[in-house]
Amino acid sequence: MESRKLTRMPILPGDQIASIEEFEAGKYAYVSDGTIRSTSVGTKIYDFKKRIAKIEKINSPILPRIGDIIVGYIEMLFGSMMSVRILYINEKKSFSGFSAIASTRISTPGRERDRRSRIIFRVGDIIRGRVISLLNSSIHITIDEKEFGVIYTLCFNCGGGTVRVNNKTIKCIECGINEDRKLTIDYGEEAFRLVHRSGR
Ligand SMILES: [Zn+2]
Repeated sequence: MESRKLTRMPILPGDQIASIEEFEAGKYAYVSDGTIRSTSVGTKIYDFKKRIAKIEKINSPILPRIGDIIVGYIEMLFGSMMSVRILYINEKKSFSGFSAIASTRISTPGRERDRRSRIIFRVGDIIRGRVISLLNSSIHITIDEKEFGVIYTLCFNCGGGTVRVNNKTIKCIECGINEDRKLTIDYGEEAFRLVHRSGR
């Protein structure tokens, strides 16, 4: 119940939403003492491409809750983090335009340290993850568990379809290139199609 309350908690006028080192102030935001603050009641949105922090006024769609399963695509990779544009929440299509944040550092047991660092993510990968935190009104997801990670992606080399080779490698059916990913157990075109179908 606590998480439910949190998700509905809106940003209030004057609330801090970002620092000026990270972002510029967008719609319904202003700068004061090096901090970007809200001018309105709403939810905060980060545009990582344009580096803009803005407020979407309330009556906007409801935020996901802790424990929700989201599916989306990687819109940006920065350092050891990724930003995932949410397409589905609990298999229902989401038109919210929200993005979630996940760590690209995967702590899979049995994987050695150096092995871990070589896991690849690319912009456009379709990701499934679980909401673990809504701290500072940001949606944080984990992709650590076996049902989470990349559920489908196209070949980075030629844009062809891909299939899984084993529990961590995919192969392009067009050009044959292999690449390591943090895959879901049901990785494949069919998995994404199922989400897509149920979400309509
Ligand atoms: Zn290919």
